[in-house]
Amino acid sequence: MYDIAIIGGGPAGVSAAINAKILNKSFIWLSGEATSKKVGRAELIKNYPGLPDITGEQLAWTLKHHTESMGIELSKEVVTGVYDTGGKFSILAGNKEYEAKTVILCLGVQATKPVEGEEEFLGRGISYCATCDGMLYKDKNIAVVCMDKSFEREIEYLCGLAHTCTVVPMYKDIDVSAQNAKIVLKAPVKYSGDMRVRHVFFKDGSSIDVDGVFILKGAIPPSTLVHGLKTEGGHIAVNRACETNIAGIFAAGDCTGRPYQYVKAVGEGNVAVHSAVEYLSAANSE
Ligand SMILES: Cc1cc2nc3c(=O)[nH]c(=O)nc-3n(C[C@H](O)[C@H](O)[C@H](O)COP(=O)(O)OP(=O)(O)OC[C@H]3O[C@@H](n4cnc5c(N)ncnc54)[C@H](O)[C@@H]3O)c2cc1C
Repeated sequence: MYDIAIIGGGPAGVSAAINAKILNKSFIWLSGEATSKKVGRAELIKNYPGLPDITGEQLAWTLKHHTESMGIELSKEVVTGVYDTGGKFSILAGNKEYEAKTVILCLGVQATKPVEGEEEFLGRGISYCATCDGMLYKDKNIAVVCMDKSFEREIEYLCGLAHTCTVVPMYKDIDVSAQNAKIVLKAPVKYSGDMRVRHVFFKDGSSIDVDGVFILKGAIPPSTLVHGLKTEGGHIAVNRACETNIAGIFAAGDCTGRPYQYVKAVGEGNVAVHSAVEYLSAANSE
């Protein structure tokens, strides 16, 4: 079991990983992206102290180099659930499960809101995880809504299991080789059903009938990821110690609220690790 699980590979996660290493804690570092896409996208960064006029690409390289030079490894996995199992946490990523005494959420913020019905039918026909739930839909009719190209092998895996597979890419240039894949280039606007999801509705008013829907994306709303996690206005509610309402779970960076800035993310990553270490010491002395 790890002392700390850090989820998210942006500046907040990088800072948490560096400081966890310096404080000599055992930790696992998981992120859907090897480096945050947001960092690489910045044209010119003017407000990072000590690094005037650095480009986003340069900052991304510097952050990666820093962790690698300390022997820190990032595991490229999307976390689909964090469960409190009484004094420790179980972290699900694909078909893997990790255990940690504390968790630091460095999830960033999502640009897109969940589609109507997405949260309602999650676990009732809607899944975020191909490898966890794919087998449940063997020979069934499914839709796979995919947010970016990095999930195309998972689409092929799901199509290989399903009877019919409607693939809904939310990006250009889809490249999927599966005979039963039917590509639909329309945005989903609603999922509906009864006890389980049954239909996907598209923006043009058309719909399809389904037994299940897979939504493949690199980020999952925090309150869906962690049951019972308190959020305020879409952000994870934290105090100055980056503690959430769940003892042992901390949060840092954009996911805790504005301003959405690198140095705030990096600072909170540091604070969150120190709070996690204090929590671990207190738990050990009980
Ligand atoms: C174009 C652009 C320019 C910007 N310019 C500036 C600037 O000049 N100055 C400035 O201060 N800020 C700037 N920002 C803002 C800055 O990028 C963010 O504030 C910063 O990246 C936040 O870091 P973070 O670690 O909190 O989140 P992010 O960088 O968003 O990283 C979050 C990470 O968590 C991962 N993740 C999320 N959910 C999961 C999950 N369930 N499982 C596994 N991994 C998960 C994501 O894949 C991502 O890698 C800019 C942003 C953009 C988009």
